Amino acid sequence: MSAALPAALPAAYSQAALRGIRCRCPRCGEGRLFRKWLKPLERCPVCTLNLTPQRADDFPAYIAMIVTGHLMAPLIIALSKDFQLGPAAMFAILIPLAVAMMIGMLQPAKGAVIATQWWFGMHGFRKERPESASASPSASLPAASPRPVEAENTESR
Ligand SMILES: [Zn+2]
Repeated sequence: MSAALPAALPAAYSQAALRGIRCRCPRCGEGRLFRKWLKPLERCPVCTLNLTPQRADDFPAYIAMIVTGHLMAPLIIALSKDFQLGPAAMFAILIPLAVAMMIGMLQPAKGAVIATQWWFGMHGFRKERPESASASPSASLPAASPRPVEAENTESR
């Protein structure tokens, strides 16, 4: 529980996002992310990462809606075509299911959004990544010529 403890930084964005989905701090993967249901803690209790820069806003709700919609669509089609349920029976099944899925998805979605914002250093989060992960994907390509941006800069001087 000491701040000096080196945080096990995620090796890749996917790991950071997975920590967020599990409602854990994206930086150390240990500390809780939320004080209440959708209320994030101000700091990670384990690695003391400041969580106040997060700006998840409505985005978790959009994620929950999109995912719920895509999971519900095949079910709606199956219920109406294969079981030939009437509108009342359809609503009785689908509405509670959709609400439960939405509510169940909000916290993991918010965790993933916070993890994403932390990983990309958005809104005042400091970009902290292991050396290997901070390298751009182009680093894995064969050594290329110097970046054109740098070349332009030297010419303009
Ligand atoms: Zn942490």
